[in-house]
Amino acid sequence: MPDRSLKDVIPAVHRFTTDPDISAFHGVLGRAGVRACIQRILDDARSDIRAGSPAPDETSLRARVLALLAAQRATGLVRVINGTGVILHTNLGRAPLARAALDAISHLGAGYTNLEFDLENGERGDRYERVGHLLHDLTGAQASLVVNNCAAAVLLVLDTFARGREVVVSRGQLIEIGGGFRLPDVLRKSGAQLIEVGTTNKTYAADFRNAWGANTAMFMRAHPSNYRVEGFTSDVDSKSLAALAKELDVLAFEDLGSGALLDLREFGAPGEPTVAEELAAGMDLVAFSGDKLLGGPQCGIICGRADLVAQMRRNPLLRALRTDKATIAALAATLSLYATPERLREIPLYAMLSQTADELFARATRLCESIEAACAPRSARFTAVRTSAAAGGGTLPLVDLPSAGIAVEPLDRTPDGLAAELRRVEPPVVGRIERERLVIDLRTVRDDEDADLTRAFAHVLRAPR
Ligand SMILES: *Cc1c(COP(=O)(O)O)cnc(C)c1O
Repeated sequence: MPDRSLKDVIPAVHRFTTDPDISAFHGVLGRAGVRACIQRILDDARSDIRAGSPAPDETSLRARVLALLAAQRATGLVRVINGTGVILHTNLGRAPLARAALDAISHLGAGYTNLEFDLENGERGDRYERVGHLLHDLTGAQASLVVNNCAAAVLLVLDTFARGREVVVSRGQLIEIGGGFRLPDVLRKSGAQLIEVGTTNKTYAADFRNAWGANTAMFMRAHPSNYRVEGFTSDVDSKSLAALAKELDVLAFEDLGSGALLDLREFGAPGEPTVAEELAAGMDLVAFSGDKLLGGPQCGIICGRADLVAQMRRNPLLRALRTDKATIAALAATLSLYATPERLREIPLYAMLSQTADELFARATRLCESIEAACAPRSARFTAVRTSAAAGGGTLPLVDLPSAGIAVEPLDRTPDGLAAELRRVEPPVVGRIERERLVIDLRTVRDDEDADLTRAFAHVLRAPR
């Protein structure tokens, strides 16, 4: 068919741009994004006609446009069902927030707050003070400072105290964690000079003592978050390092990363050093993330000596690293939940850690039945399975949390194909492939998401192929 007559059978773009269902996507995809989707469907239709297909009617073109827009919406930020079993999944946004934290954001974010206003004296106040008392109660820290994330916290400490000076670190702790955080690079960026001591597996207090000199600013420890050196190893613990730092009059700083505020053993996870323990051991400053084992919003927290925190507050770099009111509101609300042990499970991280593998297995068994019923006729085998979940986010390395989930063996497509289709439904479901099966680990799926999960499988497996 010559192009001229194509004009007559394929409607113009503007026929679709004014459609209310289509223009509803302007907010998520932008006008240009919506237009590009329409254009793409129309272009495809034109080539199909040239290839001999019958001309589609406007209704079917509209349906295709809407389907493409819905698929494209996932390029914006959307809610995802996390079936990976990795609780603090950095790619999926790390720690889900507690209801109390979300309420605080909406309550305090909707209006004005005393973020930097001292209500007592009617003068300018300090945003960093809003959570100071909570952190003091939980960690025993004299003072604290909240910045954008733990990487920023480390940068601020090094920039304030070690610019142009030496920082001594054990070779076993020169870590790289996900997302491009390499300790040696951050050190260099801050203008500090890295002095590596010891070997990968063994470092002694004497190594630190020998590396000490007139230009040494601090001894630093970094939590090897996502790996563990095992076997013939030796490390200088915080207590010995802090004592040596005191003797030689340098600072003792710890990048703790995961930032556990309580003993995780009551949740069946191995003990991680807590912030309070590290400070009690004598570390002058401890830095950690707000959205790892604390279970709050993304931020970095520095706890420790009041005189040092005061010095960091005067560093102009702080201005570039400061957090907004929503973060401070969410952090305060999350920390408040720690004060009442009965409320701790309101933090999603702790709710997820507290479920037993047996409870999850029972839920998986029930869910398999309902999904199978919803997907009839049978196009996949669903089995409740025991799995291994993980804390993730570079915390609790190598620790498997016994868990359970559903294993899916599709009969008419590959597990990878099924996984890809599930990522395209609304809300998208992300699982993992294990031994030729798609596994959805239930430890990271909230109970109230089971219905979404069932709908997602029904949608994908019952769709005509
Ligand atoms: C996770 C981690 C960081 C980085 O924390 P962010 O909050 O992601 O910036 C730094 N150091 C250690 C030891 C970590 O585990």
